[in-house]
Amino acid sequence: MSSESRPTVYVETYGCQMNVSDSELMLGKLASAGYTPVEQPEGADVILVNTCAIRDHAEQRVIGRLGELKRHMKPDTVMGVTGCMAQRLGPTLLEKARHVSLVIGPDGYRALPALVDGARRGERAIATTFDLEEHYEDFAPRRFDKVKAWIPVQRGCDYRCTYCIVPTTRGSERSRRLDDVIREVEGVVADGMSEVVLLGQTVNSYNDGTHDFADLLRRVGTVSGIKRVRFTSPHPNDFSDRVIAALAEVPTVCEHVHLPMQSGSTRTLKRMLRRYTREEYLACVERLRTAVPGLALTTDVIVGFPGETEADFAETLSAVQAVGFVDAYTFIFSPRDGTPATRLPAELTVPNEVASERLQRLVTLVRSGARERNLGLLGTRHEVLVEREAKRGEAMLMTRTRDFKTVLVPGDASMLGKYLHVELTGTTGSTFTGAIVRERQPLPMAG
Ligand code: SF4
Repeated sequence: MSSESRPTVYVETYGCQMNVSDSELMLGKLASAGYTPVEQPEGADVILVNTCAIRDHAEQRVIGRLGELKRHMKPDTVMGVTGCMAQRLGPTLLEKARHVSLVIGPDGYRALPALVDGARRGERAIATTFDLEEHYEDFAPRRFDKVKAWIPVQRGCDYRCTYCIVPTTRGSERSRRLDDVIREVEGVVADGMSEVVLLGQTVNSYNDGTHDFADLLRRVGTVSGIKRVRFTSPHPNDFSDRVIAALAEVPTVCEHVHLPMQSGSTRTLKRMLRRYTREEYLACVERLRTAVPGLALTTDVIVGFPGETEADFAETLSAVQAVGFVDAYTFIFSPRDGTPATRLPAELTVPNEVASERLQRLVTLVRSGARERNLGLLGTRHEVLVEREAKRGEAMLMTRTRDFKTVLVPGDASMLGKYLHVELTGTTGSTFTGAIVRERQPLPMAG
C-alpha cells in the first residue's frame, strides 16, 4: 500500500457498456471501502481487469494485457480479473496467470472489498456464483462519464442465441425495480447530467413483475431535468406495440435504435436461434420507422456463421441495403467453447479467407451507404449535446445529435454537457464537422 494514505485501485475495462457500468459499480464499492480510484496502473495497490468473453480475440487481448500489467505491479499489488472471462474461465485463470489472485464473475462484486482484503493478506479466491437477486442497488457508482449516465436496468439474458456466451457468463435475465431505476436517474440529474442510456442484454424485454419497458421509458423520460433517453441493446422480438408507442410518444426518447440483425438470411438466423426471420426483422424496422419518422438505425452483423453460403450472405447485404443502417458493428463469427454453435458439423465451417472477404464487402457497403446519406445532410441544422473533447485535433469537441450522428465542433472543455445548435459543414463519410449556429440556454437544474 502507498505509505499511510488510502490504498489505490485501478480498473481497466474491456467489452460492452454493461462492463463499463459494472466497472463504475466496482469503483464505487471500493471507494466506499476506503480505496482511491486512480487512472494509471503504475504503482496501484489493486489492479482489476474487467473482461469480455464474447470473442476469442477479446480474451487473447486480455491475456496479453495481464502480462503487460504485471510490469506495473509492486510486490504487494493485488491483481484481479473480473467480468465475463473470469466467469467463463474461473480456476483456469488462476493457473494460467500466477500473478492473478482474484477471479470474480459479474454477480460477485458485493464481496469485492473483503476479497481484495484477503488477497492483500496473500489469499487467492474465485467468486463465480450467480445471484439472481443481485442488482447492486446500494452501490454508489463512480461514473467515468460526466455528461451521460449508463443505467443498468436488467442483468443476464434468457435468449440462447447459439453463438453467444453471455447467458453462460451473466446468467438468467432479471430486471431492476422501476422505482430503483428512477431513483438512480433522479440522482444523475442532481449531479448535472441530462442524458441516460438504459442498459440490458435485451433491454426492451425489461419487466420488473409489474412494469414493462414501455412503462420504464415513460417514467424515465419524464424525470425532471432529463433531456435525452437512449437504450441498448434491444431484441427485435421484444418491440411490443406498447414499447413502440412509448418510443413515439415520449419526447425525450431519442430517434435512434441499435437493432442487432446478425444476419439477413432466415436460414442463418434459424441456425443462430435468433427467433425471427429476415421478413420479421424487416417488418420490425418498418413498424419502428412508421412510429418514429426519421429514426436512425444501427446494427450488429456476424459474417461467416457456420453454414453461411454466398446466397445467405447476399441476403445479408440486401437487408443492410434495404434498411439503410447509419452504421453497423460487423464481426467474423468467433466460436466460443460451450456454445451450441461449436457443435454444428465441422463441414459447415466457413473458411477464414471467405469470411474475411465477406466482411470486407459488408463494411464497404455500410460505409458507402453512410457516406452517400451523410453528404446529402451537409448544410442541415441539428441540436447536439457536447459529450467530450475530441481525441484528435485541438480545441475540438465531440458532440452528438439526437439520432446519434457524431459532429466535431470547435470549443473547449467548459462546454461539456451543453446543448448547441450546429450546421453540418463537412463529413469524413461517417462523422461530421459542424459550425455552431447558436448556443442554447443552460440546462435547468433538477426539480
Ligand atoms: S440475445 Fe442472444 S446475442 Fe444477445 S446476449 Fe442474449 S444470447 Fe447473447
